[in-house]
Amino acid sequence: MSIALFTLGGTIAMGGTDPGRAGVVTRLTGADLTAAVPGLDALGLPLDVRDTQAVPSAHLTYRQLLDVVDAASRAVTAGATGVVVTQGTDTLEESAFLADLVWPHVAPLVFTGAMRNPTLAGPDGPANLLAAARVAAAPAARDLGVLVAFADEIHAARWVRKTHSTSTATFASPNAGPVGQVLEGQVRVLARPERREPLPPVDLARLDTVRVALHTVTLDDDGGLLDGVAATHHGLVVAGFGVGHVPAVLVPALGALAGRIPVVLTSRTGAGAVLRHTYGAVGSETDLQRRGLLNGGLLDPYKAKVLLRLLLAAGAGRDEIAAAFVRHG
Ligand code: ASP
Repeated sequence: MSIALFTLGGTIAMGGTDPGRAGVVTRLTGADLTAAVPGLDALGLPLDVRDTQAVPSAHLTYRQLLDVVDAASRAVTAGATGVVVTQGTDTLEESAFLADLVWPHVAPLVFTGAMRNPTLAGPDGPANLLAAARVAAAPAARDLGVLVAFADEIHAARWVRKTHSTSTATFASPNAGPVGQVLEGQVRVLARPERREPLPPVDLARLDTVRVALHTVTLDDDGGLLDGVAATHHGLVVAGFGVGHVPAVLVPALGALAGRIPVVLTSRTGAGAVLRHTYGAVGSETDLQRRGLLNGGLLDPYKAKVLLRLLLAAGAGRDEIAAAFVRHG
C-alpha cells in the first residue's frame, strides 16, 4: 500500500532561478517537495514518487497528461491506494477534467499545486500536498472520480475552476461548491457527485491531429476569426454571452460551421448553464440550437474543449458527441 505521486512542475516546484534570468523556474523534485511537508510520515503510507515533467503547466499537452493517467492507472492496479499529481495551477482545471473523463478506478486521483512558490514567505505547496495525500489515502474519497485538493478544500474535477490569478484560495466550484474539506487532518466528504462511464479510449495518433478551436464572443464581434475554421479544425467551442447568445452577424457563419463540424455552445460568464428554450431572438440559444449547435450545458468553455477533443480523438461521430454533451453538460 502506498500513494503514487507524479510531479509535473508548476509553481509548487519553482524553487530556483536560471543564471542571468529573472523569475523562478522549476527546480524541486518530488523528493524535495515531500521533504518540505511536516506530517506526511504520519499518514502511514509511503509516497512512491515519479518525477515526470518539470514544466510550467502552460507547456503540458494532452498526450503527456494521458500518459500520466495511464501510469497512475498502472500504479493503482499494482496496489497503490491513491494517486497525487502536482502541477502548475494555470491549466490544472483542464488537466483534472481530462483525467476525470478517462479515470476508471475507485481509487482517488487527486491534483494539487501551489500559488505561492517555495522562495516566498508562506508557500502553500506543502499544505496542499499534505491535503492531497490525505485525500488520496482516505476511504471517504473513494469512487468520487478525479479530485482537486487545494487550500484544504476538495473539489470535483468536473466543476472546479481557477478563479483568481494570485489568491491561494483560487480554486472554486461556482456551480456546486467544494465536495469536501480537510478538517484537522481529517477528510470530510460533503457531497458525492454521480460518476460517469469513462470515455472510450483515445486513439493517440488521431489525438495529435485533432484540432478544436475556442472562440470567445465579444461585443460587436464581427466573427472574422471564424472564417475558414472548418478547414483547419475538427470542432469548435463557442463561449457565448450569458446563457448562450451571440451577435446576429455571427449566426450564418456559426450555422454553416455546425453543418460541417461539431460546434458546442457554452457561456463565457464563468458559472451557470447555457439555457435550452428561454430566448427566441436571432443569435439566442434556441436559434443556435436550431441551426445545429450543441448545448454545452454546465460545462465551461475550457472543459467543453477538452471533452470535444477527446471525443473526436476517440473517433466519436456527431450523435455520440451530442449524447456525450447531454451526459456531461
Ligand atoms: N504559471 C504557473 C503554472 O501553471 C502557475 C502555478 O503553478 O500556479 O505552472
